[in-house]
Amino acid sequence: MAELTGKIFNIQHFSTEDGPGIRTTVFMKGCPLRCLWCANPESQNAQPQLANRSSVCIRCKACVSVCRACALSEDGVKIKIDRALCTGCGSCVKMCPTGSMFFYGGEKTVDEVFDEVSRDAGYYEKSGGGVSVSGGECMTQPEFVSQLLRRCKQAGFHTVLDTCGYFTEQALRMVWDYVDLVLFDIKLLDPLKHKKYTGVENTPIMENLKLMLDSGMSVVIRVPVIPGVNDSDEELGAIGRFVASLDSSLHVDLLPYHRFGERKYEMLGMEYALQGISAPDDAAKEGYRKIMECYGLDCTVH
Ligand code: SF4
Ligand code: SF4
Repeated sequence: MAELTGKIFNIQHFSTEDGPGIRTTVFMKGCPLRCLWCANPESQNAQPQLANRSSVCIRCKACVSVCRACALSEDGVKIKIDRALCTGCGSCVKMCPTGSMFFYGGEKTVDEVFDEVSRDAGYYEKSGGGVSVSGGECMTQPEFVSQLLRRCKQAGFHTVLDTCGYFTEQALRMVWDYVDLVLFDIKLLDPLKHKKYTGVENTPIMENLKLMLDSGMSVVIRVPVIPGVNDSDEELGAIGRFVASLDSSLHVDLLPYHRFGERKYEMLGMEYALQGISAPDDAAKEGYRKIMECYGLDCTVH
């Protein structure tokens, strides 16, 4: 039988944003949501995706020559990919002398990922860190995540599951014994707005949050705060009120909007829907904190 593999687009070492201490974060590919502000557009599609880093392209056109599907062309400025024609053969990636053509994502076995995260064991021990799985939505691959986190727990590593909350109860039951801390996203409480901005309804997300809390899992709530989407007193206040009604001792991480992922949309030939929106300033961030504190919630603004 073939060994189980996970679709992964990045393994980030020395991460300090995905749980306590110094961590290694495994980013799984594939997500059921399509949040307009997504900073990891390369995570959304479960399959590997061809991309072009135009900043290092020397326009030698070796990729264009090797492509038998005629999916590549050069428009005088950069290499263009016709994704309808591309078969994903990878010849252009092998031929590119600068690494400009590349794939986001690939498959790795549990052993391969565990070996890589284990290299940082000394940092986990010194800093109180560990291993985090994120995405995309890591719970789209529950069997792989379950096996990886079980190995991590056996090795004594602290484990974090970073999730958008959209998954089945069956998937949750596969992983929950191996999770020390859940980072759980809440984006909007209004179901219609949630569907408008993320592509899915939030009912299963809210049910999963309650299920995790009822089962005694340790949870930190994470709220990406997006100007014009959920940064108003009304929207953020609704989230604060809801979280406090569940458990006022829950910690809330506020993640103010940033534009770090914008370049990746270009590399993938995707449109960035929030073009022109500015990141909030310090005063706005302080306002976000105060809204959460109104509901007695302990809060960190990242
Ligand atoms: S992956 Fe293959 S088919 Fe796709 S653009 Fe590259 S060479 Fe062409
Ligand atoms: S092979 Fe690489 S460097 Fe050459 S034109 Fe294609 S993307 Fe650019």
